[in-house]
Amino acid sequence: MNDCVFCERTPVESRVFYDQDSWYAFLTAPPYTKGQAILARKKSGTRCPTTLSLQNLKGVDVAIARVTQILLTHFRPKDILVASLRGRDPHVHFHLMPLWEEEEREWRNHSLRQKGYLMEYLGHVEHTAETRLEIERAKLGWSEDEYRNHVIPQVEVDVHALRAMSCYGSESS
Ligand SMILES: [Zn+2]
Repeated sequence: MNDCVFCERTPVESRVFYDQDSWYAFLTAPPYTKGQAILARKKSGTRCPTTLSLQNLKGVDVAIARVTQILLTHFRPKDILVASLRGRDPHVHFHLMPLWEEEEREWRNHSLRQKGYLMEYLGHVEHTAETRLEIERAKLGWSEDEYRNHVIPQVEVDVHALRAMSCYGSESS
């Protein structure tokens, strides 16, 4: 046992929309940007998968292809950025970050980055969202968990649609 949220899975279960072979995906709450999802390697036995080994990455090609396709079809962003950072949570997982034309354009105008610099853009999206959420939470006087419980019902509308597309829950129980 460990305290890894991706191994435990219960806290994100209501937002899981894809579960096939060794991978599952869920929407983040609150999202940094609309449609943000995380694709996580399932726990193998009792061990938390923390390295980008061949064994831990088995089947990731199929999982990324399917999950990004589902997100693209449902949310219709310009593209989806894929990053595996594993800073705070060492468990092997990928951030799937929709790229929205208007958000990107606004940042490019502001930062004078005409093209490229998408890693810097990801940092900007994270920082902007964290700042906005902190302000909103402070205004409401809510903890992070209270705030998350408040936004989860909004995210779940999308979860239902995504589950239908991925046939979540219809293959195995
Ligand atoms: Zn883990």
